[in-house]
Amino acid sequence: MRIGIYSFGGCEGCRYWLIDSMLRVCEELGAEIVYEPLIGLSKENPEYDLVIIEGAVCTDEDSEKLQRLRSRAKYLVALGSCALLSGVPGLKRFTDPRAAEMVYFGKPLPKKPVDVKPITAYIHVDYWIRGCPPDRENFERLFRAIISGIASGRPFKLHERRLEFCREEFTSIEGSVLRLDGDKCMVCGRCVGACERMGVYAIDYAYRSISTVVTTPFSIPFDESTCVLCGQCTLVCPVGAIRERSDLEKVQRILSRPTALRAYIEPESLAAMSSYFNREVEVIIGALIARGFESVAIYVPEYHADVERPLIPASEAERRFINIFYPQLAELLSEPPAPPGGSSVLITPCLAKKAQAREGLVLTTREAIKLISNIDLDEVEGTLPIMPSRKSITFREVHGPDNVIRFLEEYTRGVRVKEPMILKMCPGGCLGGGGQPYYNEDLYRRMNEALARISSTLLVID
Ligand code: SF4
Ligand code: SF4
Repeated sequence: MRIGIYSFGGCEGCRYWLIDSMLRVCEELGAEIVYEPLIGLSKENPEYDLVIIEGAVCTDEDSEKLQRLRSRAKYLVALGSCALLSGVPGLKRFTDPRAAEMVYFGKPLPKKPVDVKPITAYIHVDYWIRGCPPDRENFERLFRAIISGIASGRPFKLHERRLEFCREEFTSIEGSVLRLDGDKCMVCGRCVGACERMGVYAIDYAYRSISTVVTTPFSIPFDESTCVLCGQCTLVCPVGAIRERSDLEKVQRILSRPTALRAYIEPESLAAMSSYFNREVEVIIGALIARGFESVAIYVPEYHADVERPLIPASEAERRFINIFYPQLAELLSEPPAPPGGSSVLITPCLAKKAQAREGLVLTTREAIKLISNIDLDEVEGTLPIMPSRKSITFREVHGPDNVIRFLEEYTRGVRVKEPMILKMCPGGCLGGGGQPYYNEDLYRRMNEALARISSTLLVID
């Protein structure tokens, strides 16, 4: 078996780091490296059984050379972060193009540069090995498997081995309300971005290259970290690796027996469920009754405040946020409204309310959607919910992480009149709560319209 090793834009560290391993595995398996200038083999072969490529495509000359190599190689491996993700050369994208002119003192650039891209953007790659540089032990195992597979005429398919070799270990983070399952996480970082947008920074990347994971500082449980349990990360995870503690099974068990269980549903959850299933709210209420609840009542949280405690956290999330990031304002906090107790289940857009439940159970809107998803809604008899019996005292509110943080900053500086204010951290308020279904622009617009309809019909109390 003839192997060629080529390099494009990058530091060449992968080849230096792994050449010993490659030589050892080749000797063991009877394969031969026939092209690798690093060890004096600089005569190119017209054809290869396997070509290993390190580095990113940086010039149009690179891209032509790469296409030619692909046509001469039976199998091709992309080695390291530069080949796979454009790595260090990719940083060029974030720099001012005039910087290159300055480096070359205004002279024409030696080669025509192109937008730096991973080699997978130009050609089909049979195997990729991640890392900056890749872990040596994992590399040897994969390299051995690739060579043996090709030699035996039964090369393995990428998806059979990819995960085994791309990740060394999994870090799972536990918590009373939230769990990150490292086994499922593909380190896309969407949750990290969501947490940053909340101004919390409780989760981030840790470790380098093949060992990179998303975790809390020192992998401490969520409850011990700065996590405020808002659940915004759960809304963006494409694989459900970061999720709320589910009370669905408990509720299903209770509902499978004769029960006097009442469901309380928040207007934002009702709006989301009605939009998700594209049904009138009465059908959603009817489906919950068909599922076994004795009755369904609209739940409007009751807020309390006085001059001594004018900051009203909508939930545990805002209370935690102030306690952690604005401890100087903690004495001004009133209690967040508690979920109803007794024999009841609260359906809420707010994931943090799971942390407040004392007696009753709490389902997020997502869980409630699952609960009724196997009911034929065409067969359901529409039912009106039990309405709130009295008007709750209303206060002004501020919502969204940026607005809440701005408000707290100004409050700290004494700029604002110290009037009672409800604080809602989630973007758009409770409609955008961390327990809502995964929404896109269209679903969110329909949820908004449904909420307006609910407010103007069901929630009008004289
Ligand atoms: S629940 Fe909120 S605060 Fe906690 S990790 Fe997720 S986004 Fe960050
Ligand atoms: S969003 Fe999900 S898959 Fe992506 S890094 Fe976070 S937990 Fe992992």
